[in-house]
Amino acid sequence: MSSSPSLSMKLWGVRGSTPTPGQTTLRYGGETTCFEVRAGDDAILIDCGSGARNLGVALHAAPPRALDLFFTHTHLDHICGLPFFSPAYDDRFEITAWAGHFPDRAGLVDIICRIMSPPIFPVAANKLRAVSFRNFRAGDTVARDGPITLRSVALNHPGGATGYRLEHGGKSICIITDHEHGDPEVDRAVRRFVQDADVMIYDAMYTDAEYPRFVGWGHSTWEKGVELALEAGVRQPVLFHHDPRRSDDELDAIGEAAAARHPGVLVAREGMVLTP
Ligand SMILES: [Zn+2]
Ligand SMILES: [Zn+2]
Repeated sequence: MSSSPSLSMKLWGVRGSTPTPGQTTLRYGGETTCFEVRAGDDAILIDCGSGARNLGVALHAAPPRALDLFFTHTHLDHICGLPFFSPAYDDRFEITAWAGHFPDRAGLVDIICRIMSPPIFPVAANKLRAVSFRNFRAGDTVARDGPITLRSVALNHPGGATGYRLEHGGKSICIITDHEHGDPEVDRAVRRFVQDADVMIYDAMYTDAEYPRFVGWGHSTWEKGVELALEAGVRQPVLFHHDPRRSDDELDAIGEAAAARHPGVLVAREGMVLTP
């Protein structure tokens, strides 16, 4: 008798704000946010940043019949890969796209229609034949088909953003991006939400030293991520949403400093597969 398939997540893009190719970002990668979470045939994608183009190529090798795509929010670095995500145009796929930061489904549809309309982009959004759009409210547990359960929490970010907790087989992965610490009520809710998680992806765009120049920009620091992980008993915090200016060598140094405070820390790297 085979055991149930285990939870895993592949990171297809780890950079914040804008794609950042170049010599100084080769090792950690320059693509923006895109995650693929799996338990056997069940697949949940989180965000469609520029990393989604490569994910689309990989999915075409063995198309799952249906998959859910959850947006953390709709800033450009989290949606810019959708027009280049080939499964969206292929009706062998059945993609349900969800967002939790709009009052209704029309909010998400409107954003996608805006970025996919000539002359911004030559192909109109109605050519996304495989995609249907749904809405939920950040904070809800979303009822979906498939064994992975998904809960959500509202984050502190301009225009709103949604954090996720995905669970299967006693394992858990939390995704906390894009998020700025400092709102006591939201911070409390996030701490409860990530309690005892195996993996926590965290918005570590800045350092504590840089942060005073970026208050209100909607992002946090690696130090705050590590602090949260220690308080909430998170086994493996993963520093994520790297600032476009951050070089590979700087990320190495941040990783070392963070690991001295929490032995489970990882610095997110494009192509990394996490198996909690
Ligand atoms: Zn972002
Ligand atoms: Zn954002």
